[in-house]
Amino acid sequence: MLTEWAGVMPPSRLRIITSFLTLSALSDHRADANLSFLKFMIDEFAFDNTEERRKNRQNGAGWIEVIVGSMFSGKSEELIRRLNRARIARQKVQVFKPKIDARYSVGEIASHSGQKHDSKPVTTAAELMAAIDESTQVVGIDEGQFFDADIVKAANELANRGMRVIVAGLDQDYTGTPFGPMPHLLSIAEFITKIHAICVKCGQTANYTQRTVESDALVEVGASDKYEARCRKCFVPHADAPTLHE
Ligand code: ADP
Ligand code: ZN
Repeated sequence: MLTEWAGVMPPSRLRIITSFLTLSALSDHRADANLSFLKFMIDEFAFDNTEERRKNRQNGAGWIEVIVGSMFSGKSEELIRRLNRARIARQKVQVFKPKIDARYSVGEIASHSGQKHDSKPVTTAAELMAAIDESTQVVGIDEGQFFDADIVKAANELANRGMRVIVAGLDQDYTGTPFGPMPHLLSIAEFITKIHAICVKCGQTANYTQRTVESDALVEVGASDKYEARCRKCFVPHADAPTLHE
């Protein structure tokens, strides 16, 4: 049983647990009860209730996690949170984002609330694959919607090699249409997290990204200067573009 936890526990904590188990086994017949209690404690307190438990790999396989939602829903924050936790657990982390334009080419991902994490800008999924170090345990990908279709094969390949792949991206474009490779990634992911922003018009749960400037381009890079989070009722799909909501 200890070997299951060994990969995710700090050595100091493992030493304490091992001593505790040895003492329990030697001292009385309550060893079984002690063991159950200990397992309960570790499950309840040592692991985050969500992704941390997944590090408890039984067979060496990796997996894919996808974080989706509208703009301002907190996708980058959530990605950065998971990556920081992985780094604290001393796992080797590599982070990528698509090179869209000069503004996106800086070597970090950033949330609208100012959190940051180093990242490597890449142009294609092939370039991302070429940059992967074999010792990497966690691969973070932000703005997944801007990648080419090969990002799906790439994510699968990395998970098959035993890596934890976390992709954050917009599930819908400004017309409410599923965005680029995201629908496919959602289909193949083991774990999906859909998060929501607050509708700037009415304060309800926002599931859509409203473009507030005139442009028919699918990719129009911007933040609150060009986009707003909107709920189903307040979202007005772009009039010129094909949309599921017309
Ligand atoms: P995403 O990556 O989904 O665009 P970010 O992680 O970059 O989102 O930013 C989330 C942060 O944006 C929130 O924590 C909050 O500080 C800020 N924010 C700005 N506008 C909104 C909104 N309408 N709803 C929720 N959060 C918002
Ligand atoms: Zn609304």
